[in-house]
Amino acid sequence: MRITIPTAILERIEEQAAETYPEECCGVLIGSDNESVRKVMHLSETKNVHDENRTRRFMIGPDDFIKAEKFAREKKAEIIGFYHSHPDNAAVPSEHDRDFAWPWYLYLIASVLNGKPSTMQAWKLRDDRKRFDEIQITIS
Ligand SMILES: [Zn+2]
Repeated sequence: MRITIPTAILERIEEQAAETYPEECCGVLIGSDNESVRKVMHLSETKNVHDENRTRRFMIGPDDFIKAEKFAREKKAEIIGFYHSHPDNAAVPSEHDRDFAWPWYLYLIASVLNGKPSTMQAWKLRDDRKRFDEIQITIS
């Protein structure tokens, strides 16, 4: 399995991550899925509505989630994963991320260091939920 992302979408995630710094940004990845490739075609940007610590946690509100599902249907695509940023941290899932992740979806994490976009990595939770595996990103 790998994930393909157009440059423009990758850049928009970086911008959003820099805009919301030092808080985490978040959003929904919309596109197509087949057995070996998940193709990102659109983003649905969402608000981080976590009510305690938005510099270390994110939460997508139900209204934004419904909006993303509707947008995906309009584009005849599906929700294939989620993205969020890690301000001043590596693009590696936290324990908190694991607690809230679902196995089928891809999780794209964008590291932002001192307000500047750094690395991006994609992850998929194993079915037993014990750990994430890294997924190769191909820029299209
Ligand atoms: Zn995280």
